[in-house]
Amino acid sequence: MIDSYLKDRKVTVSSDYERVERRLHKGCPQGSILGPAFWNLCADDLLQTIAREEGKAFMYADDLVILIEGESRGELEKSGQHMTDIVCRWMDQQGMRVSKSKTEQIVLKSGGNKPGRAKTKRGKRRVTTKGSVTGSLVNTGAGGKRPPTIKLTDGSSIKYGDTVKYLGVNLSTKLTMNKHIEYMNAKGSRLFDRLAVLCRSTWGVPFGCIKILYKGVFILTVLYAAGAWGHLLSNTQAESIQSLQRQPLMKMCRGYSTTSTAALQVINGELPLDLHLKEKMFLYKIRKGLPFTVEEMVFTETSNKPKSKRIIRTKILDEWQQRWLTTSEAGTTKKFFPSVAERLDMSWIKPNHYTAQFLTGHGDFKENLNRFRLAPDPWCECAAGTGESSEHVLMECSLYEDIREDILQELQTKGQSWPRSLAQWIREDTYRHFEEMCRRILRRKEEGRAQNA
Ligand SMILES: [Zn+2]
Repeated sequence: MIDSYLKDRKVTVSSDYERVERRLHKGCPQGSILGPAFWNLCADDLLQTIAREEGKAFMYADDLVILIEGESRGELEKSGQHMTDIVCRWMDQQGMRVSKSKTEQIVLKSGGNKPGRAKTKRGKRRVTTKGSVTGSLVNTGAGGKRPPTIKLTDGSSIKYGDTVKYLGVNLSTKLTMNKHIEYMNAKGSRLFDRLAVLCRSTWGVPFGCIKILYKGVFILTVLYAAGAWGHLLSNTQAESIQSLQRQPLMKMCRGYSTTSTAALQVINGELPLDLHLKEKMFLYKIRKGLPFTVEEMVFTETSNKPKSKRIIRTKILDEWQQRWLTTSEAGTTKKFFPSVAERLDMSWIKPNHYTAQFLTGHGDFKENLNRFRLAPDPWCECAAGTGESSEHVLMECSLYEDIREDILQELQTKGQSWPRSLAQWIREDTYRHFEEMCRRILRRKEEGRAQNA
């Protein structure tokens, strides 16, 4: 059977006018079952050939990366050319040719002139380097500054790029991950937005649906392969990636645009993106059995994986909690949710346009509007002499006493009493009533405005 798979293969292309038939001598049928297996057999020989020359190579399907290390451009060129020649010769023997357009190189280095990694990549084959490579390698302008010259068998130079994409990760010359983050964010947000529009057609079920999109589309895209690149982020960069999750989180709860990212994370029950990234990196190491240390705790290949995962989760949540306690933002949200870990367990909390305003204090409340100069003063119209905050409106404002009476009756028929604090409003047995209060109060405000207008 394999014989027939490999011999006498023909391709036929037919159109209305003619039918063309060609006999095939090389290549595997696209999408065939055996294709990848044959390719692996074949490619294994190439990898072994490279290994015999002490080259470092990685291959994913027909995508080959070769790493070259060197202290100077001269060294990179010498080893790079040697490896390129080996690959070209091998390809030649197999009756194949290296794709000129898909072959690229990039020099990677980590910071200044410190020893680091440099990497050259080529589509079908790439070359990578390590060492104290000077900035002159990167600049290709006048004054003798140029990247390494490495040639293919036809004499053409392998093209040089500042950014190279490999298996969905964008690597830049100085290994700063800005380009990659930018790219991932654009891609993740675009996908998320498109799918979120589909969700909106059913006006009633957005939160759960958007939460799934957030995890399944946005997070998966933005943190794709994070185990491989997360450690390349600087601390500032890591923290700044939190800004990427603002838009999706705002859409999730339909919050006001003035809401802080810290509050959005908590009310939606989603980890800060940098901590999410950090957890992903640790989980990657645990999965691969790679050793690492977190605050004197040593994780090794033999550590119990489920237990390690639980420890990491606890550490990540601790870090989030510390941050939550010390942030100067999100005062109201903190009163509702003193503990972030507890919030994650409250699956009944699905913020919507009304509850999000109360939970964050950012909404149709004069105290908040005044802070952003959207109201002339912060005072509540009930003449109690207090600012109109979400807490005041919910707990004590006389303008909504009738709504409060209704809700209290409902609570009492269930044997419950009036919540004494904001935190008591969001328990599983009271949250439904909280939702109703929020909706009725804010609807009344909306209607009042509509009548005055
Ligand atoms: Zn009032």
